[in-house]
Amino acid sequence: MNYRGRFAPSPTGPLHAGSLVAALASWLDARAHGGRWLVRIEDVDHPRCPPGTDAVVLAQLAACGLMPDETPWVQSRRGDAYRQALASLVASGRAYPCACTRRDIDAALAARGVVRQRFSERPYPGTCRPENGGLGGRPARAWRFRVGGSSDGSSDGSAEGISDGSTDGRVEWWDRRLGEQAQDVAAAVGDFVLKRADGLWAYQLAVVVDDGAQGITHVVRGEDLADNTARQILLQRALGLPLPSYLHTPLVRSADGHKLSKQNGAAALDLSEPVRALQAAAAVLGLPEIAAHTSADWLERTVPAWAGMMRVPILGVSR
Ligand code: GLU
Repeated sequence: MNYRGRFAPSPTGPLHAGSLVAALASWLDARAHGGRWLVRIEDVDHPRCPPGTDAVVLAQLAACGLMPDETPWVQSRRGDAYRQALASLVASGRAYPCACTRRDIDAALAARGVVRQRFSERPYPGTCRPENGGLGGRPARAWRFRVGGSSDGSSDGSAEGISDGSTDGRVEWWDRRLGEQAQDVAAAVGDFVLKRADGLWAYQLAVVVDDGAQGITHVVRGEDLADNTARQILLQRALGLPLPSYLHTPLVRSADGHKLSKQNGAAALDLSEPVRALQAAAAVLGLPEIAAHTSADWLERTVPAWAGMMRVPILGVSR
């Protein structure tokens, strides 16, 4: 197998202890499989990415000895590819324009008797679906992916060619750490956004298009992203892309039990002693302590430990 893995940081701030766990796991997994490890700068949400942060992130990785095997891709330069993907989804009836504001969505949900809990998703009620009247003369704000069925009638063979989406939005997938996973995307999130009302590309579309274009075979990333996988699988299928394998790594929690994130002010990594930072990340992954003076040495010794723990066949040994 031609293993290609990646670490895909959003440069909204320097890496913190939690991001190093995902970076390290993706690097170890690539090396254990004798594969390539790529870094992709995910700056589609450009206003949230302070200039120069991508360079800071790459320097932090380099300080840990984590050097990408290819020149990093930068998502803010990939607009043409995302435009093409959206156009092909529109052409196949899998994407449509949407005029709804959040308030419109809440009102439509309330009219159906759905009371939204604080912090919960707003499953899109399908107001702007073509069969529901489309934009109805209102200006398009965003573009959405149609979950469940396609408008060409191929999915259910009905005269209208419209599937109700209640069953075929269900996605089952296997995670190498979490095991069997399932989500009914139609019920949990509904038709999700591909291009946002502010004109920015949505993470879901950018990540799927780029994983496909870069030939990524293995996605290794933090568990906080596991919830996005079903949506990404639907998009991969709709775009005719191969499905990568998934591994979601444990999160690092702060003393008060919250996930470490830039949003809640996680401190940048202390890289005064890179081996120590790597060792701390390895402990989160369940790896044993490994003595080494340099990060290169530590990384080299940790690859077999990872291969053993993840049951990756040891390199060079034929089965
Ligand atoms: N850019 C995303 C983040 O930093 C990660 C995307 C991914 O690994 O799929 O949270």
